[in-house]
Amino acid sequence: MSDRDAIVIGGGVSGLSVAWWLGQAGVASEVWEQDGRLGGKIATREADGYVTERAASLMLNFRPEVSRMLTASGLDASRVMCPGPPANQRYLVQRGKLVPVPSRLGGLIRSPLWSLGGKLRLLAEPFAPRGGRPDESVSEFVSRRLGRELLEKAMEPYIGGPLASDPDLASAQAVLPRLVALERRYGSLAFGVFAHKVLNRRTAPVHEVFSFRRGMADLIDALASAPGVSFRTRHTVTQLEPARSGWRVTARTPEGERTFRASHIVLSVPAPRAATLLHSLDHELAQLLRGIEYAPVTVVHLAFDRAAVRHPLIGTGFLVPRTENAQLTGCQWVSNVFPNRAPLGKTLLACYLGGARAPETREWNDNRCIDAAIAGLAPLLGIDAAPEQVWVDRHDCALPLYHGAYSGRLRAIMERLKRWPGLQLAANYRGGISIRDRIGEAYALAQSMHVGLAPRGARWPVAGLPSLPICAAHRSSS
Ligand SMILES: Cc1cc2nc3c(=O)[nH]c(=O)nc-3n(C[C@H](O)[C@H](O)[C@H](O)COP(=O)(O)OP(=O)(O)OC[C@H]3O[C@@H](n4cnc5c(N)ncnc54)[C@H](O)[C@@H]3O)c2cc1C
Repeated sequence: MSDRDAIVIGGGVSGLSVAWWLGQAGVASEVWEQDGRLGGKIATREADGYVTERAASLMLNFRPEVSRMLTASGLDASRVMCPGPPANQRYLVQRGKLVPVPSRLGGLIRSPLWSLGGKLRLLAEPFAPRGGRPDESVSEFVSRRLGRELLEKAMEPYIGGPLASDPDLASAQAVLPRLVALERRYGSLAFGVFAHKVLNRRTAPVHEVFSFRRGMADLIDALASAPGVSFRTRHTVTQLEPARSGWRVTARTPEGERTFRASHIVLSVPAPRAATLLHSLDHELAQLLRGIEYAPVTVVHLAFDRAAVRHPLIGTGFLVPRTENAQLTGCQWVSNVFPNRAPLGKTLLACYLGGARAPETREWNDNRCIDAAIAGLAPLLGIDAAPEQVWVDRHDCALPLYHGAYSGRLRAIMERLKRWPGLQLAANYRGGISIRDRIGEAYALAQSMHVGLAPRGARWPVAGLPSLPICAAHRSSS
């Protein structure tokens, strides 16, 4: 048995990001991953001139620590930005038709998406009373501030689609933390947005939407090849035990069972898997983790000859509100969003099915998913021909649902974790599901670990970024 400073269990973007930040601070760590490759849910496939993403396809960033990571790892040069207007037009489905989502106030007033009553209710937002209940759902929060119509026609498709969640059950505090904070601080979302625009005119972070030249694979490769990061694939961790001044980790590997000792362990695996690993150690912690629900998502990638799609496809895609009773939650027009994702003259579309809205899709076979995707897409985009190529990516436990008493559960988990010094949890059930939040939360965690791992008195050495107050950083992620 040999010793390590830190072992990160799970080679998805959460685990790799923690290892990357530790490496920047001069702390070497080893990532143990059960699969034969790194990236977890994220994987880029290249086939017949098409580039498809198994899970995340783009990043939306405004966090300075994420920008810092991209620059330091040389990824700036590989970034491919999402197009600007009008090519970034998004659509919502309304009564079986695609309707453009307005991006400016004038367009909002003219838009057929909302009734006159809905628009007047939206304009009355500054006069809506402040809320109070800490466990308010997204539906309660949005209806109270912006009205029921905006909830159903704008917010629900976003919560039900990219977040795979249900706004009636999702915690507003966990899913919309920035909007909840604006209400708390300014009493109104409109005043809050206005105040931020005026006060932060020079310092406000830029919102950027992008991928990378070779897709998300570039991000995973950059994280994994940084100094201080080493990894072992085909290492399935089966046991975690406290040991003298640290932890003993046992894994099943192609060479048989192996055990190592490490002073710090970062468990970067989905919550049910973390629960299994912690069950014999701390039954209560395992139960809390097991209670985090996950929704399935299936991505059906369809490639057509461009001439077979009658819609002009000016934009990036559409979302489908639950009121449309459709099986599709959304579709990204991949070949419009980033260059070189499809051969010339071809169109690549990524269709999303499932989420909390349709958990039954977990039981469907691939053909049923493909049929449902085509049936949803064909009338909207005017497609008569069969797709020339199809790929299906299935995630039975795609995304954690920040449902119900989620914030209380997370607080209980973090409280319980204090009993186990040197053990950390870092995965997308804590602090946000997006890649941006995974990298940003990893920064805060690595900084807190650095205190225990670096020589006494050593300062957090990441240039250009202020140190976070460590406890606050952890609180914000829970
Ligand atoms: C369909 C889909 C589309 C998405 N689109 C976007 C998007 O466009 N933009 C965006 O920002 N985010 C997007 N996301 C979210 C984002 O991709 C995920 O939240 C993120 O990739 C999760 O990373 P993770 O490291 O927390 O978990 P995972 O990727 O699940 O990684 C966990 C890792 O742990 C490993 N593991 C598990 N058990 C063990 C064990 N016992 N021993 C060793 N290893 C183990 C697993 O093999 C896996 O590699 C999307 C997600 C999905 C599902």
